[in-house]
Amino acid sequence: KGGKALKQFAVIGLGRFGTSVARTLSRMGHQVIAIDSDEAKVEALMDEVTTAVQADARDEEALKAAGIRNVDVAIVAIGENVEANILVTLIVKELGIKCVVAKAINDQHGKVLAKIGADRIVYPERDMGVRVAHTLASGNVLEHIDLSPEYSIVEIVAPARVAGKTLGQLNLRAQHGVSVMAIKRNDKILAAPGADDVVEEGDILVLVGRNKALERLQES
Ligand code: ADP
Repeated sequence: KGGKALKQFAVIGLGRFGTSVARTLSRMGHQVIAIDSDEAKVEALMDEVTTAVQADARDEEALKAAGIRNVDVAIVAIGENVEANILVTLIVKELGIKCVVAKAINDQHGKVLAKIGADRIVYPERDMGVRVAHTLASGNVLEHIDLSPEYSIVEIVAPARVAGKTLGQLNLRAQHGVSVMAIKRNDKILAAPGADDVVEEGDILVLVGRNKALERLQES
């Protein structure tokens, strides 16, 4: 599949988030060890991952037996039980896994995870809320990804008034400080388009820039 290096992952905690992460990685061709203390969660995913193991992830020996030390990335997707989430993050970090991604339910939780060495902290509920809100508030925004409090990537349907114009004519970078990363047209992607590329009606533009500028573009 492509030239992409395939990796080994462990996903610990197979709630809605963990299951979705494990399933997606597996479909991409990666090796996935999925772990949950709940037998039913493990069985539900068994056919879709490399190995599915029923174990309490607070048990270091059980994690070792599941082969956790071979993985490149461990994702701690335990949610509600913050104590278990923190403890398991600590254990997998101590087992020497290079990249540990942990799910946090709020900022305080995220701070603790950073202190104990989580390499990356994700806030799936909060981020999805932000994306859905932006999508709903503005009719033509299809996707919204926060890069920082000030910058985002958005996907918008090209407004009719820009159809037929080249990116050079639109001059978004000079006029708004917004760059066009890609143009999507009928399932095809034109990545890193140039000044001579023409925007057609119905195109989806993938833009990066300051939130203020992106909002202005959507209004104008
Ligand atoms: P989501 O919000 O993504 O659905 P949940 O918090 O509901 O996440 O689910 C977390 C999953 O983590 C559950 O399936 C639960 O059984 C599992 N889990 C919780 N504690 C442990 C633990 N100590 N070891 C392994 N799995 C655990």
